[in-house]
Amino acid sequence: MTAAVYPGSFDPITNGHMDIVTRALALFDKLIIAVYEKPDKRLLFSLEERVEMVQKAVVDLPNVCVQSYSCLTVDFIRQIKGKAMIRGLRMNSDFEQEFEMALMNKKLAPDIELVCLMADSGYQFLSSSSIKEVAKLGGCLEGMVPEHVAEALREKFFLKAARFSTLERR
Ligand code: ADP
Repeated sequence: MTAAVYPGSFDPITNGHMDIVTRALALFDKLIIAVYEKPDKRLLFSLEERVEMVQKAVVDLPNVCVQSYSCLTVDFIRQIKGKAMIRGLRMNSDFEQEFEMALMNKKLAPDIELVCLMADSGYQFLSSSSIKEVAKLGGCLEGMVPEHVAEALREKFFLKAARFSTLERR
């Protein structure tokens, strides 16, 4: 059984990520979505929240499981005996960074192959950060994230706004 790992921050998971998940599943017997605990960026959701949202999103997909990790991605892939790492590539934003990371990973773990899937044209514009920006300003997220993610984003920003206005009133 050939297993692949799709690592990322998933803060939160979007339909662009989901497109990569379903396409990777057509290539591999098993897919492990690996949620990285502490990426070098400001997070909106906790690790538990990110994992839970990914789990809900893939609940109907066979041969997919979700795990969190905090070590080097290649070490995690070795631990679970994975053969390949999956990444999604959007036209302008990802290539340089992914290429640099791929060379480093190849140096660290020559036995693990990188499989990059081109983002679907319908999701090229989609990123977790743009989703958060739209949600923060109350924009419509239809077709961009699973419904439970849209709900979690609304809740997060609504609660933040409510807390802020309480503080302002004091
Ligand atoms: P990371 O912090 O590791 O980049 P992300 O959660 O932002 O984590 O992304 C995980 C992977 O999914 C990356 O390879 C990223 O390029 C890819 N990805 C993000 N958004 C999209 C999208 N809209 N379409 C296809 N791939 C995407």
